[in-house]
Amino acid sequence: MGIMDDVITGAKQTATTIGKKSAEFYDFAKLKVLLAETKSNLSKKYEALGKITYEAEKSGAFADTTEIIVSIDILKEKITELEDKLAEHKNFIRCESCDAYNTIGSKFCNDCGASFNIASKEDDDDFNADAQ
Ligand SMILES: [Zn+2]
Repeated sequence: MGIMDDVITGAKQTATTIGKKSAEFYDFAKLKVLLAETKSNLSKKYEALGKITYEAEKSGAFADTTEIIVSIDILKEKITELEDKLAEHKNFIRCESCDAYNTIGSKFCNDCGASFNIASKEDDDDFNADAQ
């Protein structure tokens, strides 16, 4: 997880230097940014919807919210789609030797055969549990 976070934080700086092998990894960071932007757009739409409704209520006019509700639905669909894609990424681990993506829980890299040090994470958890 730490590596992922580092990449997201440094996505802007690394975008130009990142290798082809890490393209998918970079996609993950891009997806995160896109998701945040879409969520922010959705908030703005909700705000606009509130304003339209408020003003219509005050003036007694009919609030034409059809268009904005349609765009809210589109944004919500997009958010679900992006979250699904991000969840997909989370189910993969990156091989430190060759940068290939492997399903979480794999013992060896499908690409280069390097073994994954899955045990170290479990050891950490045990250590934390003992420390408490
Ligand atoms: Zn590998």
